[in-house]
Amino acid sequence: MSNQELDQLRKQVDEMNLKLLELINERATIVQEIGKAKEKQGMNRYDPVRERGMLDLITDHNDGPFENSTIEHIFKEIFKAGLELQQDDHRKALLVSRKKKPEDTIVDIKGDKIGDGQPHFIFGPCAVESYEQVKIVAEAVKSKGLKLLRGGAFKPRTSPYDFQGLGLDGLKILKQVADEYDLAVVSEIVNPADIEKAIDYIDVIQIGARNMQNFELLKTAGAVNKPVLLKRGLAATISEFINAAEYIISQGNENIILCERGIRTYERATRNTLDISAVPILKQETHLPVFVDVTHSTGRRDLLLPTAKAAIAIGADGVMAEVHPDPAVALSDSAQQMNLDQFDQFYSELQKGISIRS
Ligand code: PEP
Ligand code: MN
Repeated sequence: MSNQELDQLRKQVDEMNLKLLELINERATIVQEIGKAKEKQGMNRYDPVRERGMLDLITDHNDGPFENSTIEHIFKEIFKAGLELQQDDHRKALLVSRKKKPEDTIVDIKGDKIGDGQPHFIFGPCAVESYEQVKIVAEAVKSKGLKLLRGGAFKPRTSPYDFQGLGLDGLKILKQVADEYDLAVVSEIVNPADIEKAIDYIDVIQIGARNMQNFELLKTAGAVNKPVLLKRGLAATISEFINAAEYIISQGNENIILCERGIRTYERATRNTLDISAVPILKQETHLPVFVDVTHSTGRRDLLLPTAKAAIAIGADGVMAEVHPDPAVALSDSAQQMNLDQFDQFYSELQKGISIRS
């Protein structure tokens, strides 16, 4: 074969490549249309029966020289790429994503505008134990000019024999104290059936790490008109975390605060490993405000201040930490809650750190 003939054949191959390219992309556009139609009808994108049918049709018409198995392999790759394209389109469409809404969501809790660019704070005991206990902490919170008070009434505990919280009575205590000091209350709800009555007592529904993928709870919280503080699951990826928030927003409730609270790793020096880089990732990928819970992520009092500083420095919208009048006798998390002196010191040091940077 002459060089000229070889060049001619190569030219033909180049032209065929371009034709194939055009056809593959044309196919992709149609596949995208199909994806959108399936989404509207709530149908699954992956349809193995349809895929088998397509492969059979192709191999029935295969006159070689490629073997059927080779043809199947090539076309399966094309199918897979089409499916991935549909999923990308779906990801772009997440309601919590910045692609969907470029501007920051600001969650207004009784005038505290979370996500406005200033750091905000949620302090309070791990669990509501008594009216007096909550009142003492509320007074300390109020004296700092702060608005948000936390306290667990429904406590998801690892052991069923540990203190489970005061339940509705705990919410009533929180409400009474919050009214006395004009504070807003953040409290965890664990059962979708409790949400309706709980919203009369609390200002923010907390969904805890252990319930991040309790989809019924997420959907119920999404259907009420109350801000939700959603904590990252014990071993949840960022993508799973974002999808959990999507469950809430998909029901109509956009007032969501994401809370990084540490994830489980092999490291034992801290209770969990604070995934600090999750903060800027969540800020980039979603329009929702992001908090950092320094208490549960570290489980160590000596790390509360440095991790809180790191959270603010990296762009978190706020910090959560636990405060108890007498942590030594606390019914839960006694090792890491701050007493009132430690709280004063923590807060003033943190404020100093913030003003130096700004
Ligand atoms: C809490 O904040 O009270 C709590 C139980 O935290 P987490 O769900 O992050 O473990
Ligand atoms: Mn706790």
